[in-house]
Amino acid sequence: VLRGLQAGGPSSSSGVAVRAVSTQAPITATLFPGDGIGPEIADAVREIFEAAKAPIQWDVQHIGKEVDPRTNSFVTRENLDSVLRNRIGLKGPMTTPIGKGFRSLNLTLRKELQLYANVRPCLSIPGYKTRYDGINLVTIRENTEGEYSGLEHEVVPGVVESLKVITRVASTRVAEFAFDYARRHGRKKVTAVHKANIMKLADGLFIKCCREVSERYPEIEYEEMIVDNTCMQLVTRPTQFDVMCMPNLYGDIISDLCAGLIGGLGLTPSGNIGANGLALMEAVHGTAPDIAGKDMANPTALLLSGVMMLRHLNLTGHADMIEKACLGTIAEGRYLTRDLGGKSGTSDFTRAIIGRL
Ligand code: NAD
Repeated sequence: VLRGLQAGGPSSSSGVAVRAVSTQAPITATLFPGDGIGPEIADAVREIFEAAKAPIQWDVQHIGKEVDPRTNSFVTRENLDSVLRNRIGLKGPMTTPIGKGFRSLNLTLRKELQLYANVRPCLSIPGYKTRYDGINLVTIRENTEGEYSGLEHEVVPGVVESLKVITRVASTRVAEFAFDYARRHGRKKVTAVHKANIMKLADGLFIKCCREVSERYPEIEYEEMIVDNTCMQLVTRPTQFDVMCMPNLYGDIISDLCAGLIGGLGLTPSGNIGANGLALMEAVHGTAPDIAGKDMANPTALLLSGVMMLRHLNLTGHADMIEKACLGTIAEGRYLTRDLGGKSGTSDFTRAIIGRL
């Protein structure tokens, strides 16, 4: 297995770590089962992967119970080292600890692992009816700066400043990722989403970088769309979109809107991609404390995140097999979890998927 071998330059940042699939030697991947429904859906994923004979060996990691002074977070140094060592991981949802004086879990992971692009494919699931059919779009969100730079202060009582940071380096990097993603996946169009009519300098720089990168991809159509109009277009004519590239805050919001378009949080996978192909895939949803431990959670979002992980590792055959079994189970409609309008438990749904492998 050619661990970690990937093309140099910007395309390596888009992350396909080339593996010699034929050897089938197991690849070690970090697994954070997470909290709430996390362990149940992580178990479902492990069972399905095992039944599909996916050559993955899990390096299971649990977030610390106390703040690790080396990371100033509940994410421990060992957690980070595991992902840095394996360069690939799958993450269940984690409870956001309440309190001050430490960094948030997701921010720690993104910053320390330099996961600069968040990729969320949103595809209509055949057999699961939503308002629109045929949605097949991908949001690519800049994951490291913008309004999430963490630079806020009170100027005088009653007045705060919260700084939005946009840099040429990060904007070009994510734009390059989006166009390279479009090229590799045979997609036709990239839409850069912005508010440069108001934030002339910040968003102006973001779209300038997107425009510059677009010139290197003449076969891919490029368009720019103001974020408010984008929301309106998404809820009225979502099938016009293909790949969408945007700064951090717009990406956070728009990607949830897109999840809603295809049936909700239980179905939506995502990937966080970093330098040299390092990748941490995760379900979009949270820990769902209301249904945790009740055999009610839908494991689809984490499972499809696992499918993204397999594709990232070039284990395409296993990815296709698992995805087909999962989507087939949903399309059949006999063993749906409650969030999809069914009456089945996580375990029945998992067994039904395994039965289709
Ligand atoms: P949530 O996504 O956990 O739940 C929202 C609603 O969706 C709930 O009704 C829940 O039952 C349902 N739901 C979510 N996932 C489901 C699934 N797989 N199957 C069936 N139903 C599902 O959001 P929340 O309640 O706002 O957050 C709960 C906790 O999760 C908080 O601590 C929050 O900070 C954390 N969170 C973590 C992440 C992450 O780790 N990436 C993301 C979002 C929220």
